[in-house]
Amino acid sequence: MRSLPCKVVPLPGETSTGYLGRLADANALDITSLVHHISRELRVKNLSVANPRFTLMTEVLGGLAQGHFARDRPRFLLYRRCHHAGWRLQRCAQCDVVDGARAACMVCSNGSPTQVFSRGGRYCVRHRRWHSDSEDELIVDVRDCVRAEQALSGRLWSRGVTMHTGEFDLAARLICDSWCEHPVAGQRVAGRLYVAIVDLLVTLTHPDVALTMAALAESQRRQVEGLIGLVVGAGRGSRTPELEDTAIRVIRVHRAAMYEALWMPKSNKATISRAPFEKAIAEASFRAKAVFLRHVTRSGRRDAFGSRAVRGAPSSRVVSRRIVPGWADNAPWNAVVIPAQSAAP
Ligand SMILES: [Zn+2]
Ligand SMILES: [Zn+2]
Repeated sequence: MRSLPCKVVPLPGETSTGYLGRLADANALDITSLVHHISRELRVKNLSVANPRFTLMTEVLGGLAQGHFARDRPRFLLYRRCHHAGWRLQRCAQCDVVDGARAACMVCSNGSPTQVFSRGGRYCVRHRRWHSDSEDELIVDVRDCVRAEQALSGRLWSRGVTMHTGEFDLAARLICDSWCEHPVAGQRVAGRLYVAIVDLLVTLTHPDVALTMAALAESQRRQVEGLIGLVVGAGRGSRTPELEDTAIRVIRVHRAAMYEALWMPKSNKATISRAPFEKAIAEASFRAKAVFLRHVTRSGRRDAFGSRAVRGAPSSRVVSRRIVPGWADNAPWNAVVIPAQSAAP
């Protein structure tokens, strides 16, 4: 197979399927026909476009060096904990986990929609554009958006937090709850919501704050009040019954998960030995969808005796595969769909 006449330069962290779509656009080809053509060349039916053989053909059609997409991928591995690195927060080539794909800025992609899994969120600092699946527009008042984007692709990225690792959805829910008593402001709500969510995330994923939210030695009432205060401060919203309900649920879930982590036996058969702290935190976070608990790095004060039995930890291999993008999609606070155009103060 020969390469197509009109070349397209791949974006950093662009998915091979997104790239193929742009390549088809640049050469005025229908993407479905192009996919059929590749399948015919490979003499296969119904081959996934993510299949390595398919990716290889995409590279040939685009005139890219063989293995381009595989070589590009390690630059975008997520920071996470796994047994390969002794549960330290690192990027692991063996786990090979990258972020979920998101819509790229339409100016970066020369007007053809595509998807990337590189670090960052919904604002293109270079072109000052807000971009998501349904929107792509120029933002004039940029200061807060730039700050939020830099936090998401800098500090939060190095903590292993992206828009698809669960924390973002919970922070969005909390901010929306604190805004729900105010009338809809209309324009730029998505951008304001984004800035408030990222500000809240920077605070809640700090190891000390995450510990304060989950520590068993703290009073639950004070933890709820503390969380409400942080949410209202980050979004400049107000204390609403919805926010109180969500905050109570979040603290309850995080405390219960912290208890599980502290008392988790090494295995189902173990009676005395406990699982390593970081591994137990990962497993307990996963079981309860306690998305902020995984940022806790020390145990704090603990009870002398556990009053309730905890299921043992599975093998390290299993726990290392637990927290990947999308792992908290069915968390209880995600049950209510957050509207894209929410109310704002
Ligand atoms: Zn690993
Ligand atoms: Zn751009």
